[in-house]
Amino acid sequence: MAGQKMLKFTTVSRDMPEKRPPDLRRTDFHEIYAEYARSKAEEQASRCSQCGVPYCQSHCPLQNNIPDWLRLTAEGRLQEAYEISQATNTFPEICGRICPQDRLCEGNCVIEQSGHGTVTIGSVEKYITDTAFDEGWVKPIRPHAERTESVGIIGAGPGGLAAADMLRRQGVQVTVYDRYDRGGGLLTYGIPGFKLEKDVVMKRMAQLEDGGVEFVMNCNVGDDLSFDAIRGKHDAVLIATGVYKTRNLDNHGVDADGIVNAIDYLTASNRVSFGDDVVEFNSGELNAAGKKVVVIGGGDTAMDCVRTAIRQGATSVKCLYRRDRANMPGSQREVQNAEEEGVEFVWLSAPKMFVDDAANLNDTRAITGPLRGVVVDKMRLGQPDATGRRSPELIDGAHYVEEADLVIKALGFEPEDLPTLWGVEGLEVTRWGTVKADFTTGKTTLDGVFAAGDIVRGASLVVWAIKDGRDCATAILDYLSQSDAVAAE
Ligand code: FAD
Ligand code: SF4
Ligand code: SF4
Repeated sequence: MAGQKMLKFTTVSRDMPEKRPPDLRRTDFHEIYAEYARSKAEEQASRCSQCGVPYCQSHCPLQNNIPDWLRLTAEGRLQEAYEISQATNTFPEICGRICPQDRLCEGNCVIEQSGHGTVTIGSVEKYITDTAFDEGWVKPIRPHAERTESVGIIGAGPGGLAAADMLRRQGVQVTVYDRYDRGGGLLTYGIPGFKLEKDVVMKRMAQLEDGGVEFVMNCNVGDDLSFDAIRGKHDAVLIATGVYKTRNLDNHGVDADGIVNAIDYLTASNRVSFGDDVVEFNSGELNAAGKKVVVIGGGDTAMDCVRTAIRQGATSVKCLYRRDRANMPGSQREVQNAEEEGVEFVWLSAPKMFVDDAANLNDTRAITGPLRGVVVDKMRLGQPDATGRRSPELIDGAHYVEEADLVIKALGFEPEDLPTLWGVEGLEVTRWGTVKADFTTGKTTLDGVFAAGDIVRGASLVVWAIKDGRDCATAILDYLSQSDAVAAE
C-alpha cells in the first residue's frame, strides 16, 4: 500500500539538506545547501500526510502536484516523480532552490500548521530534477512536427524562457532577443551563485538552444533593433523584459562616488563569477573588498547584496532598514543566513544624508572627498499602512554617522517606460508603468503582442514569471491557430 510509506511526520522530524558552515560559505559563491542523499529525500518526502485538499498545491503559483511527487519520491519512483513535477513547472530545479517556500507551498503545509515542521517541498523538488539531469531523464526538446509560424520573445529571463520552451515543444519557430550576452535574465545576472549556481541556468539555456530556440544576444530592443521590426518579422511577439529602473534616494550627497545601485553591483559580481573581465570591479567601484559597506533596503535584493559583500571580503557589512525585523519584506530565512555569515542589521534606521567628513553630522556642502559615511535617522514604528506593515516614523534629532566606503542602494525596481523607449503607439501601460495585459492570457492592447513576468506584475518572483510565460505560450498557440484559420478562409 502506497499509504504505508507516507504520514511519517509524527515519527520523522523535518530535516533540511545540510547547510555549509558560515566560515566556509563566506569564502566562495557556491550554494549553501548540500543535496539530499537519496534515502534522506525519500524519508523527508514520506512525512507528507497526502492531504485531500493540499494547501501546499493551491499556494504554489504553478499548482504543482506536490502530494503525488512526494509520494512517488517516498516510494523510490523518482523518474515518475520527475515526470509529474516537470509537467507543471518548466524549471523545477530553479524553483526548488529560490522560491520563497516559507511564503508559498511550505508556509501553507498543514503539518507546519499543526506544529510538526513543514514538509521540505522545495528541497525535494530540487533533488528530483537534479537527479533527473544526472540520470539523463531530462529529454531534449524534439517537436513532433515543425510549424511555419514564428514567435519573437523579447527578454531571456524566466518568463521569456518558459514561453520559449512551451512554444518550441509545439514546433513553433522561436527567436529570443536579449540585451545581455548571456540568457537567464535575473537568474543569471541578478541572483547570486550562493542561492543559484550559474551552471544550473546555463544547462537550461543549452537545452533550449539544442531544441532549436534561436537566441539573438547583445540586442537591446529599441536601440539595436526596433520593436516594430520584431513585430514585422514574427506572427506574434512576447514582451518579457522585466523591471530594471532602480528606485532612487534624493538625500544630500546621494550622487557621490562610492554610492552604487544594487543591480550594477550584483551584475558585476555575477560576471566576475563567470570569469569576465569587469572594469568597474577591477577598479574597486563595484567591489566591496577591504571596505566598510552599508546596504540600504530590507528586501531580498538587499539580502543578496550584503551576502555578496561578505564574500568579496568587506571589513564590515551593515544593512540599514527603516522598519524592524518583523516588518521587513525580505525572507526571514535569508536574514538568518546573512546574520550567520557576519552581516549586522541596523533596524529602524533610514539614511538622512551622505558625508565625506564623518565628524560633521550637518555638513551640507557638496561632497568633494571620498565617501566617509551615512548620516542615519533613527525611526520608530507607527500605525500599520495599507499593506498591513507598520509605518516608520522619524524620531526627531536622533541621528548618528554610520561609517561607510561603499553604499549600495537596494530600494526596489520600477518598469522602464517601454512605449516611449520603443516608440510604440497603442501599447498601453498601467498607472504603475507596467505593461497592461490580461492576467490569464497576457494579451496586451496590441494585436498579436503578449507580455509576461515582472514587466506585467512589477518586481515579483521567478515562479510567477514562469507561470506567466507558460500561460502566454498557451494563449499564443490559440492566437496562431485562430490566425491560421482566418487565413485559410
Ligand atoms: P528578468 O529575469 O528580469 O529578465 C528580463 C530579461 O529581459 C533580461 O535578460 C533583460 O536583459 C532583458 N531585456 C530587458 N529589456 C530589454 C530590451 N530592451 N531588449 C532586449 N532585452 C531586454 N525571485 C525569486 O523567486 N527568488 C529569489 O530568490 C529572487 N531573488 C532576486 C534577487 C535579485 C537581486 C533580484 C533583482 C530579483 C530577485 N527575484 C527573486 C525576482 C526574480 O528574479 C524576478 O521576478 C524574475 O527574474 C522576473 O523574470 P522576468 O522574466 O520577468 O524578467
Ligand atoms: Fe513550492 Fe515554488 Fe516548487 Fe511551487 S514551484 S512547489 S511554490 S518551491
Ligand atoms: Fe503534504 Fe503538506 Fe501538501 Fe499536505 S500540505 S499534501 S502534508 S506537503
